Amino acid sequence: MSDWAMKISMLASGSTGNVTYIETPKKKFLVDVGLSGKKVEQLMQQINRQLCDVDAIFVTHEHKDHIHGVGVLARKYGMDIYANEKTWEAMENQLGKIDIAQKHIFRMGDTLTLGDIDIFSYGVSHDAIAPQFYSFHKDNKSFVMLTDTGYVSQRLKDELQGATAYLMESNHDVELLRAGSYPWSTKQRILGDKGHLSNEDGALAMSEMITKDTKRIYLGHLSQENNDKIVARQTCELILKEKDLGVNHDFYVFDTHPDKPTELFTL
Ligand SMILES: [Zn+2]
Ligand SMILES: [Zn+2]
Repeated sequence: MSDWAMKISMLASGSTGNVTYIETPKKKFLVDVGLSGKKVEQLMQQINRQLCDVDAIFVTHEHKDHIHGVGVLARKYGMDIYANEKTWEAMENQLGKIDIAQKHIFRMGDTLTLGDIDIFSYGVSHDAIAPQFYSFHKDNKSFVMLTDTGYVSQRLKDELQGATAYLMESNHDVELLRAGSYPWSTKQRILGDKGHLSNEDGALAMSEMITKDTKRIYLGHLSQENNDKIVARQTCELILKEKDLGVNHDFYVFDTHPDKPTELFTL
C-alpha cells in the first residue's frame, strides 16, 4: 500500500463546543467550529497547525456547540463551508455575512471528493433541523464521526462498520443524568431518541461497528454535568469486553477533552 496518511485531532469535544481537525497530504479540514475563533486559534497552535492552511469547514448541524466560530473563521481565513440545505437555512442568520463563493451544499447521503480524500455524509437522530455527520475515506483507511445522536439505526451501523478510527458519542451516564440538576424536560430531551447517546448506548452501537480493521475509538461529546471521564471509559471498555472484542490490544479507547486537543494521530 501507499504511504498516504491522514492526521486527526479532536481539538475540543463536549457539550461546551466541538471542533475536529483532519489533514491529508493535500487538504486540511475542520468539522464544526463550536468555540470562538480565538479559542480555536489557540487549540490549533497546540497541535502545531495554522488556521490559514485550512481549506474547508464541514458543519454537522446548527446547534451553538457546533457553529459558534464558523462565521468568524470563514471570514478571517476564507475557508469554504459545507452543510446541507436545511442546515444552511437554520444557521445562516447566526453566521453573519458569508461570501457566496464560500457557501457549499453537501446533501445528506452524498459523497464528495476533495483533493485526495472522499467524504461521506449521513443523517443522525438529533433535535436539529437536518443533522448529518461525516466520514473520511481513502483506500483502506477511514475515520467515522458519530455524535449528537439519540439513536443509531441498524442501517447506519452497517454503513459505518469497520472504520480505522471512530469519534463516538459517550454523552452521559444515565444514573448521573437522572440524579443531576437538569430540569425534567431537559433530561427527557437528552435521553430521547433525538438527544444524545449514553455511555452504554454509545458502546453498544460501537460494538456492532468494530471489525479487525478498527484501531482507535475516541469517546466524544461528554457532558460535563452528567458524565465522568473514568466512568465513560470503564463503561465502554466493559461492554466491549463482554462482547469479546479486543480492547487494549486489537484497538484502543481514547478520551477527548472539552478544552484541549487530543494528540494529532496518524491513520
Ligand atoms: Zn446538537
Ligand atoms: Zn453537540
